[in-house]
Amino acid sequence: MAHRVTLIPGDGIGPELTEATRRVLEATGVEFEWDVQPAGEAVMAAHGGNPLPSETLESIRENGVALKGPITTPIGTGFRSVNVALRKELDLYAQVRPCKSYPGVRSRYEDVDLVIVRENTEDLYAGIEFAEGTPDAAELIEWLAAHGAPVPRPDSGISIKPISVSGSRRAFEFAFDYARRMGRRKLTAVHKANIMKFTDGLWLHTARAVAEENPDIQFDDRIVDNMSMQLVQWPEEYDVLVLPNLYGDILSDLAAGLIGGLGVAPGANFGDDVAVFEPTHGSAPKYAGQNRVNPIAQLLSGMLMLRHLEERDAADRLEAAISELIREGESVTYDMKPARDDPTAVGTSEVADALVEKLQRVRQ
Ligand code: NAD
Repeated sequence: MAHRVTLIPGDGIGPELTEATRRVLEATGVEFEWDVQPAGEAVMAAHGGNPLPSETLESIRENGVALKGPITTPIGTGFRSVNVALRKELDLYAQVRPCKSYPGVRSRYEDVDLVIVRENTEDLYAGIEFAEGTPDAAELIEWLAAHGAPVPRPDSGISIKPISVSGSRRAFEFAFDYARRMGRRKLTAVHKANIMKFTDGLWLHTARAVAEENPDIQFDDRIVDNMSMQLVQWPEEYDVLVLPNLYGDILSDLAAGLIGGLGVAPGANFGDDVAVFEPTHGSAPKYAGQNRVNPIAQLLSGMLMLRHLEERDAADRLEAAISELIREGESVTYDMKPARDDPTAVGTSEVADALVEKLQRVRQ
């Protein structure tokens, strides 16, 4: 039976990347019924200024799976970010960013194989902020002083960091489950519990409680500053890292840097009933429509989607084809060549053509 999947082309380089990915996914032999839905800056005008139409959300809820291109965050509108809104609306609480190095990729490191799991709904990203100089900020500062927590200076802006037991628990339960399903051996909780006892401390206590319920997976923890240094020195020591929202955002970019950069870093966002697959990178508007950028991050996001749909054989074949393409180093975009002005670099759709050919050869 064909898998019904919501396809969101997105903005900037999104449409060309998702088109390349759609072609390659179909070449695996898996059947899809694509439910193409709009979202982003490009469709706002047609939807009364709304970059995230309700039909798009409905389609994702109904299908349970979406493949999404990057979306530009429109500046000067009521929307903070379509991506953040999408995660909130669908309660996509766990973001997964696997960072695996494929031989031949331009990187200072070899043999990196990490998975970053980032809690996606709490922490300093909750959007609870009070601007400096406003009556609300002044009232909050006064309240805090009266409760034994004086803010050092009155001309402060304030951002609140909520981390809950239930929010942390579901992130760790997801992470242990994911680790088990993906055959991973170890999970590391990342925090700054020595300083923020009531938020990161709670995160760590909860992690330890969930770890006790999952004794088949090794568990340890690291303070986030030490973790950053360890990742740069000994990335091979780590397997699955689980982080609160802000540290997760920062360290997933660090980990993308270990494996060759944004052009090859895939991602996925999971809720209880819904999963949205998208690359780590953004819409790179200056390259839009030029058939120039690297589709591999979007393609690997498609590979993760195949695994989620339990199409393991197709996922393995696609990953092997991408790995071979990178190792050969011929049909790759400019960012994967030894020099960025290499005249032998190919375009986005030619990368897809080469992969379609490889996949068809394997199926014959
Ligand atoms: P970006 O990731 O779009 O681009 C930064 C640079 O990275 C590009 O100029 C390009 O040199 C390189 N790059 C990115 N993707 C590449 C690819 N596939 N191949 C080769 N090179 C690539 O980041 P930005 O410029 O900060 O953001 C542009 C827009 O994207 C903003 O509106 C931002 O809000 C949005 N954004 C969206 C998402 C998402 O949809 N999940 C994520 C991040 C940023």
